[in-house]
Amino acid sequence: MQENLTVVIGGGAAGICAAINKGRRGEPVIICEKAGQLGRKILASGNGRCNLLNDNLSEKYYNRAARELVKSIFARYGKSEILDFFKGLGLNVYSQDGRIFPVTNQAASVLKVLELELKRLAIPVEYNFNCSAISIQKGRIVVSGGAGKQIECRKVILTGGGKSYPVLGSDGSTYEIAKHLGHTIVEPVPSAVPLIVKDSLCRYLQGQRISSGVKSIIDGKEGRTFKGELLFTKYGLSGTCILDVSNSISVALNRQKKANVFLSVDLVPFMDKPQLRDELARRKKSGYAPEDMLTGILPNKLTFAVKDIFEQNDIETAVDSLKARRFPVVATKGWNEAEFTSGGISVNEVNSETLESKLHKGVYFAGEVLDADGERGGYNLAWAWASGFVAGMTG
Ligand SMILES: Cc1cc2nc3c(=O)[nH]c(=O)nc-3n(C[C@H](O)[C@H](O)[C@H](O)COP(=O)(O)OP(=O)(O)OC[C@H]3O[C@@H](n4cnc5c(N)ncnc54)[C@H](O)[C@@H]3O)c2cc1C
Repeated sequence: MQENLTVVIGGGAAGICAAINKGRRGEPVIICEKAGQLGRKILASGNGRCNLLNDNLSEKYYNRAARELVKSIFARYGKSEILDFFKGLGLNVYSQDGRIFPVTNQAASVLKVLELELKRLAIPVEYNFNCSAISIQKGRIVVSGGAGKQIECRKVILTGGGKSYPVLGSDGSTYEIAKHLGHTIVEPVPSAVPLIVKDSLCRYLQGQRISSGVKSIIDGKEGRTFKGELLFTKYGLSGTCILDVSNSISVALNRQKKANVFLSVDLVPFMDKPQLRDELARRKKSGYAPEDMLTGILPNKLTFAVKDIFEQNDIETAVDSLKARRFPVVATKGWNEAEFTSGGISVNEVNSETLESKLHKGVYFAGEVLDADGERGGYNLAWAWASGFVAGMTG
């Protein structure tokens, strides 16, 4: 065994940062990556632009269970450290509505500066190493991959990611490794994911986009409102506000097995109720046909699709229906279309200062493999960079 060797399992955002920090401290480290390439999720992030951080970095944008841990990690490695790190690597960034991107608008630039740093530090990468187990006996840690490959080390940092977009490498296999070590796995569910909705309106309107405000209604309890683009699809609803609201819906459907899950959609978010009421009353008085009551307010096809609201109801009821149209949600589109994972290794079982396992000395976790997920807007990569750095910090 190489003296003091650390093995990093997984070469994504968290694993690369953990390895760089180890390397900069002059400690021997190797990355074991199951694919033939590092950072494939970084390349796919932000539609290829990589929203790598948010100006407003705070634990409050993460799941409740993880907030204490996230706060502790950001206190050690927060926004200014992440910005300094990338600046030091030569990456120039800019901020758009709080979301931070590389000035090149290319995720490939982000991965490239990280790879150059790995090269400068001469950090070896074992590609096509599909880690299947970590065994620990009397302080001796052995990492096993396919075809009988084994590496003995002093420390191991597990950064195998979650279950979303398995085509990019992370398929949940590292949860099993942590489970074998005795760790609790909070049931992973897809997050930031389109929703399957039982309403023929969606299929009829497929391809139409509107700006909207949406909130979840789970067992009658209303969630927070998310505003943004809504896209009607043949299976249901997608678009930025749907991805934003999907987290609580996915947890309710997939983990809590709730049946009463609805989306309340404000089809006219740019008008408050009195404004909409006045405009509709004016149109009705002027003799507008039901199919024209919303012409110029909503796309023509949607205006036609909801004309029955005006055929069957008074203005007051129509306003209520347009400001809070209910769609029953039956499922999410699943792992292949989810940007992140909610759930993972329980944060209660890791040291909140070092990310070391409370069950096994020398075993660390970082990134999406932990039960820590942030909102969209750069929070998940921020967590991956920061937790990776902290996991690679202890000597
Ligand atoms: C389409 C898409 C867009 C996104 N856009 C953004 C965005 O703009 N901003 C943002 O903040 N977040 C975004 N995210 C989320 C963000 O990319 C992830 O949260 C983050 O990359 C997780 O980093 P990670 O290192 O923890 O895991 P991953 O990036 O998943 O890396 C895990 C690595 O481990 C490897 N691995 C897995 N199992 C094993 C094993 N058994 N043995 C060896 N290696 C293994 C995998 O191949 C992979 O390389 C996006 C995600 C997706 C899918």
